[in-house]
Amino acid sequence: MSDHDVVVIGAGAAGMMCAAQAGQRGRSVLLIEHYHLLGEKIRISGGGRCNFTNSGATAANFLSQNPDFCRSALARYTPRHFISQVEKYGIAYHEKKLGQLFCDDTAQDIIRMLKDECDRGNVQWRMPCPVDRVERSTDGFDVTTPQGNARCTSLVIATGGLSVPKIGATPFGYRIAEQFGLPVVPPRPGLVPLAFAPEALARYGDLSGVSVDAEVACNGGRFRENLLFTHRGLSGPAILQVSSYWDGRTPLSIDLLPGGDAAQWLCAQVNSQALLPTLLAQRLPKRFAQQWCAAHGIAMPMKQLGEGKLREAAALLHAWRVLPSGTLGYPKAEVTCGGVATSHLSSKTMGATDVPGLYFIGEVVDVTGWLGGYNFQWAWASGHAAGQFA
Ligand SMILES: Cc1cc2nc3c(=O)[nH]c(=O)nc-3n(C[C@H](O)[C@H](O)[C@H](O)COP(=O)(O)OP(=O)(O)OC[C@H]3O[C@@H](n4cnc5c(N)ncnc54)[C@H](O)[C@@H]3O)c2cc1C
Repeated sequence: MSDHDVVVIGAGAAGMMCAAQAGQRGRSVLLIEHYHLLGEKIRISGGGRCNFTNSGATAANFLSQNPDFCRSALARYTPRHFISQVEKYGIAYHEKKLGQLFCDDTAQDIIRMLKDECDRGNVQWRMPCPVDRVERSTDGFDVTTPQGNARCTSLVIATGGLSVPKIGATPFGYRIAEQFGLPVVPPRPGLVPLAFAPEALARYGDLSGVSVDAEVACNGGRFRENLLFTHRGLSGPAILQVSSYWDGRTPLSIDLLPGGDAAQWLCAQVNSQALLPTLLAQRLPKRFAQQWCAAHGIAMPMKQLGEGKLREAAALLHAWRVLPSGTLGYPKAEVTCGGVATSHLSSKTMGATDVPGLYFIGEVVDVTGWLGGYNFQWAWASGHAAGQFA
């Protein structure tokens, strides 16, 4: 049996941040990670360059049953704080677009930085080491592992979500929440490509690789970015973003000519003998324009369609409704939406309100960021918050 002030389970982004903070406060910390490689999700993130934060991150960039929950932690540990840390370590970075900050070289720089910060806090490690059991003791928790038992007063669960199971994701955090009576918002894949239903796949499946600038909306989420056709359905940033809002039954509304007035544009050419798809090919990929017009029975000359049909076509162009058949699931999802319900957590400490000493941080919590560095910012901010109190 070893004794610690704090045991953190899960050495990902949030877990390492929390362990380093608690350790640097003088707490004795044990960090337990079951996977044999450290920070794998950080390593593969951002195409290997880790989009480690977003300079404009606010609570408005996150989904949760309680959208205000993340506000306090994000305000106390801002993107600027993390950027200062990155600069202190001499890690070169750049903004790609929309406030998204990436390493110039490799995501390994971020992993090394977090590991160094843990070393500065004298964090002890068990890795690789699974956790067999967690139990409440008189003044804390007993954690049972094959490498011996660990006793602690504060237990931090930082085991992440379910996405990419082949690099160590498990439902461990949800099970612990349930064990201690905390509700879990049903998890589902987020930031994930969507699959076409068979009819749409037959029509658009061969457009794989084609992309369009589109504004995609669903259930309150609305994003203007690239939409990419794949051999299974739709992907690209606009689709990944809106996938986190998709409930499995509401059609997406896709504006194929965002910012324009399609009715005005089309009706100005109502006397043209040109085919509608030929005109649309001025602003959309040609093959897509042809397939899309064929699908809607309007691959005809403009003149023949007349103003009424052109207005209908314009409305469709601004709100093409697509009902996906599903998502590509956790193996392809960047995040997990849902998780430990914030209703039973303190937004100040990340501690469970009814279970003193038990904390949940990072993606395991029902706080999910948009694409673009927001999820790491939540991992840093929630990890930092718990690190001050655990
Ligand atoms: C392909 C991909 C690219 C991404 N790119 C970005 C990006 O560029 N920017 C961004 O902001 N976000 C990105 N994300 C999301 C981001 O990686 C996660 O939101 C973030 O890592 C969550 O941090 P976490 O510490 O909560 O969980 P994780 O980083 O997933 O860490 C959880 C840790 O717990 C360990 N663990 C799990 N179960 C157990 C157990 N039973 N016992 C012990 N240990 C356990 C896991 O092995 C893991 O090390 C990406 C995700 C993916 C999949």
